Amino acid sequence: MSFVITQGCVDVMDKACTEVCPVDCIYTGGRMLYIHPDECIDCGACESACPQSAVVHEDDAAPGPIDFRAVATEFFAPVGSPGGSTEVDLSAADHPVVAALPATH
Ligand code: SF4
Ligand code: SF4
Repeated sequence: MSFVITQGCVDVMDKACTEVCPVDCIYTGGRMLYIHPDECIDCGACESACPQSAVVHEDDAAPGPIDFRAVATEFFAPVGSPGGSTEVDLSAADHPVVAALPATH
């Protein structure tokens, strides 16, 4: 794991991060996007591209009310490593913790 998307992405999903990811490891969920922890090559391009400052390095993702490192790991557990977001459609799904968050707008 390297970079992690956090709560600022929920219900925003403008996908500026996917435009800059060189390995297509940012997957669209139902209410937010998720970085695949095993496919990310730790380049940092998405961090500076995100207008919500929602992307953080895992070392800076201090567990708050929600541990988004665990969220990402658990989100991808059922599908393994698809090898790119074009290989699988996860857009109907969210981690249960994310799905349960109140609407932000
Ligand atoms: S750090 Fe780089 S490889 Fe990892 S998700 Fe962001 S843009 Fe993609
Ligand atoms: S750029 Fe930020 S807010 Fe936009 S989809 Fe990516 S992580 Fe979410």
